[in-house]
Amino acid sequence: MQNAIRVLKNAVPLLLEWYGAYKRELPWRGTRDPYKIWVSEIMLQQTRVEAVKGYYAAFLEKFPTAEALARASEEEVLKAWEGLGYYSRARNLHRAAKIIAERGFPADFAGVRALPGVGDYTAGAICSIAYDLPCPAVDGNVLRILTRLTADERNIDEMSTRSAFSELLREVYPPQAGEFCQSLMELGATVCVPNGEPMCLICPWRELCAAHRMGREEEFPVRAEKKARKTEQIFVYVLKKEGRFALRKREGKGLLAGLWEFPNGSKDESAEYGKVLSEKNAKHIFTHIEWHMTGYLIEAKEFFPQFTWVTPEEMRKGYALPSAFKAFKSWVDN
Ligand code: SF4
Repeated sequence: MQNAIRVLKNAVPLLLEWYGAYKRELPWRGTRDPYKIWVSEIMLQQTRVEAVKGYYAAFLEKFPTAEALARASEEEVLKAWEGLGYYSRARNLHRAAKIIAERGFPADFAGVRALPGVGDYTAGAICSIAYDLPCPAVDGNVLRILTRLTADERNIDEMSTRSAFSELLREVYPPQAGEFCQSLMELGATVCVPNGEPMCLICPWRELCAAHRMGREEEFPVRAEKKARKTEQIFVYVLKKEGRFALRKREGKGLLAGLWEFPNGSKDESAEYGKVLSEKNAKHIFTHIEWHMTGYLIEAKEFFPQFTWVTPEEMRKGYALPSAFKAFKSWVDN
């Protein structure tokens, strides 16, 4: 630990200097507004920076404050989130906005952490960036760069490893906590990357980094073997009748629950709905499951009453469909 603290203490100023010179211009950088930082951090959970860029600006234009977000309906919020995936994030944002609208944005770690949908990492990032509080935000990226820097062979899937690195960071947090938090993220995203070779030659830590010195960069981080993702076969029905298409709200509590979707199921029931006009296959990968989908465009026999029948225009304006169904949406848009 003492050795790791010493290495980290030397690494901090090098990283801050590098960040000042080379950081990317991103739409959420430069603000200290905790609401805006919170929105960006929630969007960035499990979603790539490039994908978030467009959504972030449009979302803030629609909901510029927590109060505006709190006033919106759930349908409006989900519509603004359409395509970003992991919709529970949008629902939690909406729930949390109602709390913030009433009590103001919390100003300490415990208060931020208590908001729906905010875990240790997100609370740490918000408190560091918005308030310069020394609250470590440790995710897979940060663990990767720190385990490489210190050639630490502990399994990063263990909570104890995560806590140990949080403690380590707490020891070395500089006064510019927000800059430091973002510089760790930036190094992991642009230089000490997860796949392919890390770019050690341009890394500010190349002189200090234990993994680099040993030529073992790619052996870190150490992690337990991942379980293979489950696959499920799904049949998707795009039912069409007189210019309208069938949608339904997904029931239950599981994946995509409560969201609008094309009717679908695990058995092929296409013949019961009408005449098949077209067929195509698609795949969608969620965190723990993979859907292998066969989709049918069908001229429906009747307006089946269990479904909501909407025009393409209505679908575009008011019904957020998860991106799992994107491959079949072109049948509606054409
Ligand atoms: S020197 Fe290489 S392995 Fe070490 S932190 Fe930098 S990019 Fe990562």
